[in-house]
Amino acid sequence: MDGRPLLNRRLDGHGTTIFAEMSALAVRTGAINLGQGFPDTDGPEEIREAAVRALRDGRGNQYPPGPGVPELRTAVAAHQRRFYGLDFDPDTEVLVTAGATEAIAASLLALLEPGDEVIAFEPFYDSYAACIAMAGAVRVPLTLRAPDFRPDLDALRDAITPRTRLLLLNSPHNPTGMVLTREEGTAIAELAVEHDLLVVTDEVYEHLVFEGEHIPLISLPGMRERTVSISSSGKTFSFTGWKVGWVTGSPALVAAVRTAKQYLTFVSAGPFQYAVAEALHLPDAYFTDFREDLRGKRDLLSAGLADAGFEVYRPQGTYFITTDVSALGEKDGIAFCRGLPERCGVVAVPSAVFYDDPEAGRTQVRFAFCKQKGVLDEAVNRLKG
Ligand code: PMP
Ligand code: GLN
Repeated sequence: MDGRPLLNRRLDGHGTTIFAEMSALAVRTGAINLGQGFPDTDGPEEIREAAVRALRDGRGNQYPPGPGVPELRTAVAAHQRRFYGLDFDPDTEVLVTAGATEAIAASLLALLEPGDEVIAFEPFYDSYAACIAMAGAVRVPLTLRAPDFRPDLDALRDAITPRTRLLLLNSPHNPTGMVLTREEGTAIAELAVEHDLLVVTDEVYEHLVFEGEHIPLISLPGMRERTVSISSSGKTFSFTGWKVGWVTGSPALVAAVRTAKQYLTFVSAGPFQYAVAEALHLPDAYFTDFREDLRGKRDLLSAGLADAGFEVYRPQGTYFITTDVSALGEKDGIAFCRGLPERCGVVAVPSAVFYDDPEAGRTQVRFAFCKQKGVLDEAVNRLKG
């Protein structure tokens, strides 16, 4: 070879994801994994059975339709109507994707020209920076700062330039647990309308809001024609390995995203699409019980981490608690997380890797609480030791 780096320049610096690195560390050391956000118990038994039935009955074992099986598109539309009073046409305004991850990638690849600026909350979920880079676009961070991680709307206004094409928003926000208020969402929507921006919203934690409410920005005035709304079954139904996600939006936006999506995976997860369709029709009680269970786990781990000496930023939503380790005399979250499995048998994720501004998150460490209570108790005992 000619000595030129194999990995192209766009992906330079986007090596192994922190989640893969930390989960591998957990396996290697036998530590309790509070790093990568996945539940340690599967979702509802009847939904697992629905997947088995679909497989046995030969539904989805061959390529499903490109936009997703009709049962699932109809179920997504019914979910949007039930929870948010929003009407989407299952045929033209819903697209099934390989998780939210593909929906994000396809949206950015479809909607951005090289050089376009994308404003996103920092700390960023890891795939945002990589997908913006793959699209040849430029990321512009809007830093959320401890202790409450509210977005600075004046800073957002200042960050918008003539090159800004798109706002990539995430609420409930991973990793900080910030949930946008209606006032904040409205102010952001007004800026998007004023500057004629596209908006992509990542709402995978929509059913994990403990304080406040989830407001899909697509429901706000002027947003329907400019917003790609993304969610996924992984978190809501505790089947993160199935990778069934979806996009809802105007026919024009969904058609654009579908154009990119069809050359990424074309289709995926055939039998699981039928099972997720059933999951989306579960009664309200499922969604309430799920949230309340996670609220209890949030409270348990928040209290335990505080007892162990961490500064705890109580999340309003998601699976995650952000802490600050300076209170423990630590100066660097990355070094802290690399040493933690050996020191006390627990894995966490350093939030610094989600920032462009390394100072803003240097001492922040994220813990996932989507684990069995006994596991959280044991993790807290170890951390106290
Ligand atoms: N966005 C955020 C904010 C996430 O935390 C995750 C991980 N669940 C994803 C997207 C990816 O979702 P999926 O597993 O459905 O691809
Ligand atoms: N969303 C999960 C998290 O934030 C990880 C998903 C992944 O590993 N890509 O921990």
